[in-house]
Amino acid sequence: MGTRGREIVGKNAERTIELLNKAFSDEWLAYYQYWIGSKIVAGPMKDAAIAELMQHAADELRHADMLALRIIQLGGTPVTTPKRWFELANCGYAEPADPFISKILEQNIAGEQCAISTYHAIIEEVGIKDPVTYNLVSQILTDEVEHEEDLQALLEDLGFMLKGRV
Ligand code: FE
Ligand code: FE
Ligand code: MG
Repeated sequence: MGTRGREIVGKNAERTIELLNKAFSDEWLAYYQYWIGSKIVAGPMKDAAIAELMQHAADELRHADMLALRIIQLGGTPVTTPKRWFELANCGYAEPADPFISKILEQNIAGEQCAISTYHAIIEEVGIKDPVTYNLVSQILTDEVEHEEDLQALLEDLGFMLKGRV
């Protein structure tokens, strides 16, 4: 860790590390939920869904990487065992027990909505007194907002198709 870089965060560093490790746990679970979803999804418009799910999986893994680097910069340690992901996560993991495309999309939309609320709360708590974390979490939030919209648009298209309106 850089000493001055941490000094400007001051006494808030420990709390920020905690918030970032919780988000880090969510990102790994989101990554796996998308990754396994892309393998097992079934039904109409499956190919479009697979492409979107795979892209989102890659984004979530990149978010985990961004968070890990910031945790280390602040003098913390990213969660070292998957068991902890379930204890720390804000949004948890929704098992895709039903692989039908609309079910998978709905589960992932709920996950994105939880992620959006979580990152918004982190931004509010961290505030501009830690501009590096603020900026990093804002970048991630921007992606999650895009993810939600992509999935809702796909679900809407699917709805039109199932009603025979194409
Ligand atoms: Fe993410
Ligand atoms: Fe996302
Ligand atoms: Mg997308």
